[in-house]
Amino acid sequence: MSAPHERGTELVMPELQFDLRRATELQQRLAAIVESSDDAIVGKSLDGIIQSWNRGAERIFGYKAEEVMGKHISIIAPPDRVDEIPRILARIARGERVDHYETERRTKDGRILTVSLTVSPIRDASGVIIGASKIARDITERIRHQQELEEANRALTRSNVDLQQFAYSASHDMREPLRTVATYSAMLKRKCGGQLGELGDEYIGYIIEGAERMQKLIDDLLAFTRAATMEETDPEEVDANAALSTVLKTLESAIQESAASITGSGLPLFRGHRFQLEQLFQNLIVNAIRYRSGKPLEIHVASERSGDHWQFAVQDNGIGIDPQYHERIFGMFKRLHSPAEYPGTGMGLAICRRIVERAGGRIWVASELGRGSTFFFTLPA
Ligand code: ADP
Repeated sequence: MSAPHERGTELVMPELQFDLRRATELQQRLAAIVESSDDAIVGKSLDGIIQSWNRGAERIFGYKAEEVMGKHISIIAPPDRVDEIPRILARIARGERVDHYETERRTKDGRILTVSLTVSPIRDASGVIIGASKIARDITERIRHQQELEEANRALTRSNVDLQQFAYSASHDMREPLRTVATYSAMLKRKCGGQLGELGDEYIGYIIEGAERMQKLIDDLLAFTRAATMEETDPEEVDANAALSTVLKTLESAIQESAASITGSGLPLFRGHRFQLEQLFQNLIVNAIRYRSGKPLEIHVASERSGDHWQFAVQDNGIGIDPQYHERIFGMFKRLHSPAEYPGTGMGLAICRRIVERAGGRIWVASELGRGSTFFFTLPA
Protein backbone atom coordinates (compact mmCIF):
# COMPACT_ATOMS: atom_id res chain seq x y z
CA MET A 1 0.00 0.00 0.00
CA SER A 2 1.51 3.24 -0.97
CA ALA A 3 0.77 6.47 0.78
CA PRO A 4 -0.96 9.06 -1.25
CA HIS A 5 1.66 11.23 -2.79
CA GLU A 6 1.56 14.54 -4.29
CA ARG A 7 3.18 13.76 -7.61
CA GLY A 8 0.89 14.77 -10.33
CA THR A 9 -0.84 17.38 -8.26
CA GLU A 10 0.21 20.76 -9.54
CA LEU A 11 2.27 21.62 -6.47
CA VAL A 12 5.07 23.95 -7.50
CA MET A 13 8.05 24.44 -5.18
CA PRO A 14 8.58 28.18 -4.53
CA GLU A 15 12.34 27.96 -5.39
CA LEU A 16 11.52 26.40 -8.75
CA GLN A 17 8.98 29.01 -9.59
CA PHE A 18 9.86 30.53 -12.87
CA ASP A 19 10.61 34.12 -12.12
CA LEU A 20 10.21 35.79 -15.45
CA ARG A 21 11.28 39.18 -14.20
CA ARG A 22 14.57 37.87 -12.81
CA ALA A 23 15.30 35.95 -15.97
CA THR A 24 14.68 39.02 -18.10
CA GLU A 25 16.92 41.09 -15.83
CA LEU A 26 19.66 38.51 -16.05
CA GLN A 27 19.35 38.39 -19.80
CA GLN A 28 19.59 42.16 -20.01
CA ARG A 29 22.63 42.18 -17.80
CA LEU A 30 24.32 39.55 -19.95
CA ALA A 31 23.47 41.52 -23.06
CA ALA A 32 24.96 44.64 -21.47
CA ILE A 33 28.16 42.74 -20.65
CA VAL A 34 28.40 41.51 -24.24
CA GLU A 35 27.71 44.98 -25.57
CA SER A 36 30.28 46.71 -23.40
CA SER A 37 33.05 44.18 -24.01
CA ASP A 38 36.24 45.51 -25.60
CA ASP A 39 36.44 42.30 -27.60
CA ALA A 40 34.35 41.66 -30.66
CA ILE A 41 31.58 39.19 -29.78
CA VAL A 42 29.79 37.84 -32.82
CA GLY A 43 27.03 35.27 -33.16
CA LYS A 44 26.68 33.38 -36.41
CA SER A 45 24.76 30.46 -37.84
CA LEU A 46 26.49 27.22 -38.75
CA ASP A 47 26.67 28.35 -42.34
CA GLY A 48 28.44 31.55 -41.31
CA ILE A 49 25.63 34.12 -41.44
CA ILE A 50 26.13 36.90 -38.89
CA GLN A 51 23.31 37.02 -36.33
CA SER A 52 24.68 39.32 -33.66
CA TRP A 53 27.42 41.93 -33.64
CA ASN A 54 28.36 43.85 -30.47
CA ARG A 55 29.86 47.29 -30.10
CA GLY A 56 33.34 45.80 -29.69
CA ALA A 57 32.95 44.26 -33.14
CA GLU A 58 31.85 47.65 -34.51
CA ARG A 59 34.87 49.31 -32.99
CA ILE A 60 37.39 46.67 -34.09
CA PHE A 61 36.13 45.92 -37.59
CA GLY A 62 34.53 49.29 -38.40
CA TYR A 63 31.16 47.86 -39.58
CA LYS A 64 27.93 48.90 -37.83
CA ALA A 65 25.71 45.99 -36.75
CA GLU A 66 23.06 46.89 -39.33
CA GLU A 67 25.68 46.74 -42.12
CA VAL A 68 26.68 43.15 -41.42
CA MET A 69 23.65 41.41 -39.90
CA GLY A 70 22.53 38.69 -42.31
CA LYS A 71 25.81 38.84 -44.25
CA HIS A 72 28.40 36.08 -44.40
CA ILE A 73 31.24 36.25 -41.85
CA SER A 74 33.78 36.06 -44.68
CA ILE A 75 33.15 39.79 -45.12
CA ILE A 76 35.88 40.34 -42.49
CA ALA A 77 38.34 37.71 -43.75
CA PRO A 78 41.25 38.80 -45.94
CA PRO A 79 41.30 36.80 -49.23
CA ASP A 80 44.04 34.43 -48.06
CA ARG A 81 42.09 33.59 -44.86
CA VAL A 82 38.64 32.93 -46.36
CA ASP A 83 39.37 29.18 -46.50
CA GLU A 84 39.70 28.82 -42.76
CA ILE A 85 36.10 29.92 -42.05
CA PRO A 86 34.37 26.72 -43.26
CA ARG A 87 37.01 24.69 -41.42
CA ILE A 88 36.29 26.52 -38.17
CA LEU A 89 32.51 26.17 -38.67
CA ALA A 90 32.90 22.45 -39.36
CA ARG A 91 34.71 22.01 -36.07
CA ILE A 92 31.96 23.93 -34.26
CA ALA A 93 29.31 21.75 -35.89
CA ARG A 94 31.12 18.72 -34.44
CA GLY A 95 30.80 20.29 -30.98
CA GLU A 96 34.46 21.35 -30.71
CA ARG A 97 35.80 24.69 -29.53
CA VAL A 98 38.51 26.77 -31.12
CA ASP A 99 40.67 28.45 -28.52
CA HIS A 100 42.99 31.43 -28.97
CA TYR A 101 43.42 30.86 -32.64
CA GLU A 102 45.74 33.56 -34.02
CA THR A 103 44.83 34.77 -37.47
CA GLU A 104 44.17 37.89 -39.52
CA ARG A 105 40.96 39.75 -40.24
CA ARG A 106 40.21 42.77 -42.38
CA THR A 107 38.46 45.95 -41.26
CA LYS A 108 35.91 47.89 -43.28
CA ASP A 109 38.60 50.34 -44.37
CA GLY A 110 40.91 47.53 -45.48
CA ARG A 111 43.37 47.39 -42.57
CA ILE A 112 44.62 43.92 -41.69
CA LEU A 113 44.44 43.11 -37.98
CA THR A 114 46.02 40.28 -36.06
CA VAL A 115 43.28 38.74 -33.92
CA SER A 116 43.01 35.95 -31.41
CA LEU A 117 39.76 34.01 -31.91
CA THR A 118 37.86 31.86 -29.47
CA VAL A 119 34.85 30.21 -31.10
CA SER A 120 32.38 27.96 -29.32
CA PRO A 121 29.14 26.24 -30.27
CA ILE A 122 25.74 27.70 -29.33
CA ARG A 123 23.13 25.06 -28.48
CA ASP A 124 19.37 25.33 -28.26
CA ALA A 125 17.36 24.15 -25.24
CA SER A 126 17.49 20.56 -26.48
CA GLY A 127 21.29 20.65 -26.89
CA VAL A 128 21.38 20.84 -30.68
CA ILE A 129 24.15 23.03 -32.05
CA ILE A 130 22.56 25.89 -33.90
CA GLY A 131 25.39 28.33 -34.35
CA ALA A 132 28.69 29.70 -33.12
CA SER A 133 29.71 32.50 -30.84
CA LYS A 134 33.00 34.07 -31.64
CA ILE A 135 35.13 36.30 -29.44
CA ALA A 136 37.80 38.15 -31.38
CA ARG A 137 40.52 40.09 -29.58
CA ASP A 138 42.53 42.60 -31.53
CA ILE A 139 46.17 41.75 -30.72
CA THR A 140 47.75 43.76 -33.54
CA GLU A 141 49.37 46.20 -31.10
CA ARG A 142 50.53 43.46 -28.78
CA ILE A 143 52.13 41.52 -31.65
CA ARG A 144 53.72 44.70 -32.96
CA HIS A 145 55.17 45.52 -29.52
CA GLN A 146 56.41 41.97 -29.20
CA GLN A 147 58.10 42.16 -32.60
CA GLU A 148 59.63 45.54 -31.76
CA LEU A 149 60.89 44.17 -28.47
CA GLU A 150 62.42 41.15 -30.19
CA GLU A 151 64.06 43.39 -32.78
CA ALA A 152 65.39 45.73 -30.06
CA ASN A 153 66.75 42.71 -28.20
CA ARG A 154 68.51 41.44 -31.29
CA ALA A 155 69.96 44.91 -31.92
CA LEU A 156 71.12 45.11 -28.31
CA THR A 157 72.79 41.72 -28.50
CA ARG A 158 74.51 42.73 -31.76
CA SER A 159 75.75 46.00 -30.32
CA ASN A 160 76.90 44.25 -27.15
CA VAL A 161 78.92 41.81 -29.19
CA ASP A 162 80.35 44.69 -31.25
CA LEU A 163 81.19 46.66 -28.13
CA GLN A 164 82.76 43.62 -26.57
CA GLN A 165 84.90 43.05 -29.64
CA PHE A 166 85.77 46.73 -29.83
CA ALA A 167 86.82 46.91 -26.17
CA TYR A 168 88.82 43.74 -26.55
CA SER A 169 90.72 44.72 -29.67
CA ALA A 170 91.12 48.34 -28.61
CA SER A 171 92.67 47.38 -25.31
CA HIS A 172 94.66 44.60 -26.92
CA ASP A 173 96.03 46.87 -29.64
CA MET A 174 96.77 49.68 -27.20
CA ARG A 175 99.17 47.47 -25.30
CA GLU A 176 101.78 47.47 -28.03
CA PRO A 177 102.39 51.25 -28.38
CA LEU A 178 102.08 51.56 -24.62
CA ARG A 179 104.83 49.02 -24.10
CA THR A 180 107.04 51.13 -26.38
CA VAL A 181 106.34 54.25 -24.30
CA ALA A 182 107.02 52.37 -21.05
CA THR A 183 110.20 50.67 -22.32
CA TYR A 184 111.75 53.79 -23.81
CA SER A 185 110.91 56.06 -20.92
CA ALA A 186 112.45 53.50 -18.52
CA MET A 187 115.53 53.40 -20.80
CA LEU A 188 115.64 57.20 -20.89
CA LYS A 189 115.63 57.27 -17.11
CA ARG A 190 118.37 54.65 -16.88
CA LYS A 191 120.67 56.06 -19.55
CA CYS A 192 120.02 59.78 -19.28
CA GLY A 193 118.76 60.15 -15.71
CA GLY A 194 120.48 63.09 -14.04
CA GLN A 195 121.56 64.63 -17.38
CA LEU A 196 118.24 66.30 -18.18
CA GLY A 197 118.11 68.43 -15.09
CA GLU A 198 115.68 68.14 -12.19
CA LEU A 199 112.68 69.04 -14.32
CA GLY A 200 113.64 66.47 -16.99
CA ASP A 201 113.83 63.71 -14.34
CA GLU A 202 110.50 64.79 -12.92
CA TYR A 203 108.85 64.63 -16.36
CA ILE A 204 110.29 61.18 -17.08
CA GLY A 205 108.84 60.09 -13.75
CA TYR A 206 105.38 61.30 -14.84
CA ILE A 207 105.66 59.48 -18.17
CA ILE A 208 106.57 56.21 -16.46
CA GLU A 209 103.77 56.61 -13.91
CA GLY A 210 101.28 57.45 -16.65
CA ALA A 211 102.29 54.44 -18.72
CA GLU A 212 102.02 52.12 -15.71
CA ARG A 213 98.60 53.46 -14.89
CA MET A 214 97.46 53.09 -18.48
CA GLN A 215 98.75 49.51 -18.41
CA LYS A 216 96.61 48.77 -15.35
CA LEU A 217 93.52 50.34 -16.95
CA ILE A 218 93.97 48.25 -20.09
CA ASP A 219 94.53 45.07 -18.08
CA ASP A 220 91.31 45.74 -16.15
CA LEU A 221 89.38 46.56 -19.31
CA LEU A 222 90.55 43.27 -20.79
CA ALA A 223 89.59 41.44 -17.60
CA PHE A 224 86.17 43.11 -17.83
CA THR A 225 85.57 41.97 -21.41
CA ARG A 226 86.83 38.48 -20.55
CA ALA A 227 84.46 38.27 -17.56
CA ALA A 228 81.62 38.00 -20.07
CA THR A 229 83.05 35.09 -22.02
CA MET A 230 83.93 32.86 -19.06
CA GLU A 231 80.51 31.32 -18.64
CA GLU A 232 80.62 29.93 -22.17
CA THR A 233 82.75 27.08 -20.81
CA ASP A 234 81.06 24.15 -19.06
CA PRO A 235 80.55 24.44 -15.31
CA GLU A 236 82.80 22.28 -13.14
CA GLU A 237 82.88 21.14 -9.53
CA VAL A 238 84.22 24.13 -7.57
CA ASP A 239 85.67 23.91 -4.08
CA ALA A 240 85.25 27.43 -2.69
CA ASN A 241 87.80 26.68 0.08
CA ALA A 242 90.43 25.77 -2.49
CA ALA A 243 89.56 28.88 -4.53
CA LEU A 244 90.10 31.05 -1.45
CA SER A 245 93.46 29.33 -0.70
CA THR A 246 94.66 30.01 -4.25
CA VAL A 247 93.75 33.68 -3.92
CA LEU A 248 95.46 33.98 -0.52
CA LYS A 249 98.61 32.52 -2.05
CA THR A 250 98.48 35.00 -4.94
CA LEU A 251 98.05 37.90 -2.52
CA GLU A 252 100.61 36.60 -0.03
CA SER A 253 102.92 39.60 0.00
CA ALA A 254 100.07 42.16 0.25
CA ILE A 255 98.57 40.12 3.10
CA GLN A 256 101.88 40.01 4.97
CA GLU A 257 102.53 43.68 4.39
CA SER A 258 99.13 44.67 5.80
CA ALA A 259 99.32 42.03 8.56
CA ALA A 260 95.79 41.03 7.60
CA SER A 261 94.13 38.16 9.39
CA ILE A 262 91.89 36.36 6.92
CA THR A 263 89.46 33.61 7.89
CA GLY A 264 86.88 31.61 5.99
CA SER A 265 83.84 29.61 7.08
CA GLY A 266 81.09 27.49 5.56
CA LEU A 267 82.56 27.65 2.04
CA PRO A 268 80.77 25.15 -0.19
CA LEU A 269 81.45 22.71 -2.99
CA PHE A 270 79.24 23.63 -5.93
CA ARG A 271 78.99 23.51 -9.70
CA GLY A 272 80.27 26.71 -11.30
CA HIS A 273 83.38 28.34 -12.68
CA ARG A 274 86.35 28.28 -10.35
CA PHE A 275 88.13 31.10 -12.17
CA GLN A 276 85.15 33.40 -11.66
CA LEU A 277 84.95 32.71 -7.94
CA GLU A 278 88.70 33.29 -7.61
CA GLN A 279 88.42 36.58 -9.43
CA LEU A 280 85.56 37.67 -7.15
CA PHE A 281 87.44 36.70 -3.99
CA GLN A 282 90.61 38.33 -5.26
CA ASN A 283 89.05 41.68 -6.23
CA LEU A 284 87.11 41.92 -2.96
CA ILE A 285 90.07 40.94 -0.78
CA VAL A 286 92.41 43.33 -2.63
CA ASN A 287 89.88 46.09 -1.87
CA ALA A 288 89.56 45.03 1.77
CA ILE A 289 93.34 45.30 2.09
CA ARG A 290 93.57 48.53 0.10
CA TYR A 291 90.80 50.34 1.99
CA ARG A 292 91.88 49.26 5.48
CA SER A 293 91.70 51.61 8.44
CA GLY A 294 94.24 52.10 11.25
CA LYS A 295 92.89 49.03 13.11
CA PRO A 296 94.52 45.58 12.75
CA LEU A 297 92.92 44.31 9.54
CA GLU A 298 90.47 41.43 9.82
CA ILE A 299 88.80 39.92 6.79
CA HIS A 300 86.23 37.15 6.98
CA VAL A 301 84.91 35.19 4.02
CA ALA A 302 81.69 33.28 4.65
CA SER A 303 78.89 31.68 2.73
CA GLU A 304 75.43 30.29 3.25
CA ARG A 305 72.79 28.64 1.10
CA SER A 306 69.95 30.96 0.13
CA GLY A 307 67.26 29.15 -1.91
CA ASP A 308 68.78 28.01 -5.18
CA HIS A 309 71.86 30.23 -4.73
CA TRP A 310 74.96 30.32 -2.58
CA GLN A 311 75.37 33.68 -0.90
CA PHE A 312 78.97 34.69 -0.22
CA ALA A 313 80.10 37.52 2.06
CA VAL A 314 83.51 39.20 2.26
CA GLN A 315 83.62 41.29 5.41
CA ASP A 316 86.33 43.76 6.48
CA ASN A 317 86.83 46.26 9.28
CA GLY A 318 88.22 48.98 7.00
CA ILE A 319 87.30 52.59 6.24
CA GLY A 320 83.75 51.76 5.12
CA ILE A 321 81.64 53.39 2.41
CA ASP A 322 79.05 56.14 2.73
CA PRO A 323 75.64 54.59 1.82
CA GLN A 324 75.05 57.25 -0.87
CA TYR A 325 77.82 55.58 -2.93
CA HIS A 326 76.72 51.96 -2.47
CA GLU A 327 75.39 51.72 -6.05
CA ARG A 328 77.89 53.96 -7.78
CA ILE A 329 81.01 52.04 -6.77
CA PHE A 330 79.96 49.12 -9.02
CA GLY A 331 80.13 51.33 -12.15
CA MET A 332 83.02 51.17 -14.63
CA PHE A 333 85.96 53.41 -13.66
CA LYS A 334 83.97 54.70 -10.67
CA ARG A 335 86.15 55.47 -7.64
CA LEU A 336 85.73 57.47 -4.48
CA HIS A 337 89.42 58.36 -4.12
CA SER A 338 92.19 59.88 -6.20
CA PRO A 339 95.09 57.63 -7.31
CA ALA A 340 97.30 59.65 -4.94
CA GLU A 341 95.20 58.58 -1.93
CA TYR A 342 94.72 54.97 -2.98
CA PRO A 343 95.94 53.27 -6.17
CA GLY A 344 93.29 51.66 -8.39
CA THR A 345 91.40 51.94 -11.65
CA GLY A 346 87.80 51.79 -10.48
CA MET A 347 87.24 48.56 -12.43
CA GLY A 348 87.47 45.94 -9.66
CA LEU A 349 83.85 46.06 -8.56
CA ALA A 350 82.59 46.58 -12.13
CA ILE A 351 84.30 43.30 -13.05
CA CYS A 352 82.77 41.61 -10.00
CA ARG A 353 79.31 42.82 -10.94
CA ARG A 354 79.69 41.67 -14.52
CA ILE A 355 80.83 38.20 -13.46
CA VAL A 356 78.05 37.79 -10.92
CA GLU A 357 75.25 39.14 -13.11
CA ARG A 358 76.29 37.10 -16.14
CA ALA A 359 76.19 34.03 -13.90
CA GLY A 360 72.63 34.92 -12.80
CA GLY A 361 73.49 36.29 -9.35
CA ARG A 362 73.55 39.64 -7.56
CA ILE A 363 76.20 41.72 -5.78
CA TRP A 364 75.73 44.48 -3.20
CA VAL A 365 77.41 46.04 -0.20
CA ALA A 366 76.41 46.77 3.39
CA SER A 367 78.61 49.44 4.90
CA GLU A 368 78.88 52.72 6.74
CA LEU A 369 81.77 55.16 6.85
CA GLY A 370 84.27 54.09 9.51
CA ARG A 371 82.46 50.80 10.25
CA GLY A 372 83.90 48.36 7.74
CA SER A 373 82.18 46.87 4.72
CA THR A 374 80.58 43.57 3.84
CA PHE A 375 80.30 42.72 0.16
CA PHE A 376 77.68 40.10 -0.61
CA PHE A 377 77.28 38.21 -3.86
CA THR A 378 75.19 35.24 -4.94
CA LEU A 379 75.93 32.50 -7.46
CA PRO A 380 73.53 29.79 -8.65
CA ALA A 381 74.06 26.60 -6.64
P1 ADP B 1 89.32 50.62 -7.22
O1 ADP B 1 89.56 49.89 -5.95
O2 ADP B 1 90.31 50.30 -8.28
O3 ADP B 1 89.13 52.10 -7.02
P2 ADP B 1 86.82 49.23 -7.30
O4 ADP B 1 85.81 49.15 -8.39
O5 ADP B 1 87.37 47.96 -6.79
O6 ADP B 1 87.95 50.15 -7.84
O7 ADP B 1 86.18 50.02 -6.09
C1 ADP B 1 85.44 51.22 -6.34
C2 ADP B 1 85.45 52.10 -5.10
O8 ADP B 1 84.72 51.46 -4.07
C3 ADP B 1 86.83 52.29 -4.52
O9 ADP B 1 87.46 53.40 -5.15
C4 ADP B 1 86.55 52.53 -3.06
O10 ADP B 1 86.25 53.87 -2.84
C5 ADP B 1 85.29 51.75 -2.80
N1 ADP B 1 85.59 50.46 -2.13
C6 ADP B 1 85.66 49.24 -2.71
N2 ADP B 1 85.90 48.28 -1.81
C7 ADP B 1 85.95 48.88 -0.60
C8 ADP B 1 86.17 48.42 0.74
N3 ADP B 1 86.35 47.12 1.02
N4 ADP B 1 86.14 49.34 1.72
C9 ADP B 1 85.94 50.65 1.45
N5 ADP B 1 85.75 51.14 0.21
C10 ADP B 1 85.76 50.28 -0.81
